[in-house]
Amino acid sequence: MLTDLPNRWVGPINELVKDLGYNGMVLVADEGDPISDFGKLVFKNTRHVVDRIIDHMKITAKIHVAVIVDSAQSFQACAVELDDDEFCILIWMAALIRTSASLSRLLATPAAREFFALEPELASVSEVAHGENTFAAYDSLSLLPRIDLGDVGNDFRRYLEFMASEWLVLHEIGHIVQGHLAVGKTVNGLTYILEQDPSVDRDYNITSQALEVDADCFANLFCVQYSLGRHHILERDGASHDEVVVGRLKPYLFSMLSVLRSFDHSPLNLETLFDSDHPPGCVRMSYLLAQMLTMQSETTIDFKGANLVEAGGLAAITLERAISEATGVNSQGGNLLSAVSIPDEVFRKPVLSRWAKIYPELNAIKLSPFKLARPQYEPA
Ligand SMILES: [Zn+2]
Repeated sequence: MLTDLPNRWVGPINELVKDLGYNGMVLVADEGDPISDFGKLVFKNTRHVVDRIIDHMKITAKIHVAVIVDSAQSFQACAVELDDDEFCILIWMAALIRTSASLSRLLATPAAREFFALEPELASVSEVAHGENTFAAYDSLSLLPRIDLGDVGNDFRRYLEFMASEWLVLHEIGHIVQGHLAVGKTVNGLTYILEQDPSVDRDYNITSQALEVDADCFANLFCVQYSLGRHHILERDGASHDEVVVGRLKPYLFSMLSVLRSFDHSPLNLETLFDSDHPPGCVRMSYLLAQMLTMQSETTIDFKGANLVEAGGLAAITLERAISEATGVNSQGGNLLSAVSIPDEVFRKPVLSRWAKIYPELNAIKLSPFKLARPQYEPA
């Protein structure tokens, strides 16, 4: 199966995709070729994640899944409101193909092998990504062919890929169940929230960034819990409770950070922070790592005695080193470090006071029985 989107919606969704400037369409026909096979896998995995959370939260709304094939290989995902209590998640197939390619290349680096205690033999990497800086080089890494890491390495890569896609899908689900589409954009009667959707309206961007932070935190909360409950191929017998916790968090941290890192195309610039409707990837990375510390301090999740600061920091440093090693471009690791030191007045206060302002509206229409995050600032 490639999609469960009812036939009547395929045309309007294809039009929406075109209107948004993408050369893509809903994958519906099984041609028996590798694209169709991969599309079926993406659909199955996405459906699994959606069904699990629907069941978990007892959501009654219909949420369909459609895979988009896009000739430009754009990395994109979208939440769409189709009708009352009927929604759709669009996942660009290229997002998953590119994630798979970059994860294979990152895992082949000495930095990642050391971090995960993977076998030291390196796959032979003939091509190295290039670009004028670390952001362009990381972007081009995802367009190279995926490399073979051997049985264990490939298995582990698939595990990281699943977690990256789980995070992406849960982020989209977050937009739907937390009521964000009430303040989404509408084209031809369809309301949507697109990832990477530049706008020049600073006020709109602050609202949108508040929604992005909320969707990120929603995804992070569930992904952390799911990751902690999963055994993976590199887990060894006889590990202590703390080691198991850290060992299960590391693959999630690495895959989640590797996706967010790919959203940055230039060094962090606080002057242009609200020129986009999405916070810079590094700001989102920093926010989610901080959210995990809050989960620990508020004991929302039992992390045993795991040192989350060390695990998160090490994952971020490893990712940065792996990008340098895989691309040959030295990153200097700057963006996340800059994001961690942004004063509250510059990002948190404007974004979270906007959250407080839209909170009553979202709270009234959210689909989820769970409480929304309580406002921490005066509405503005
Ligand atoms: Zn989003």
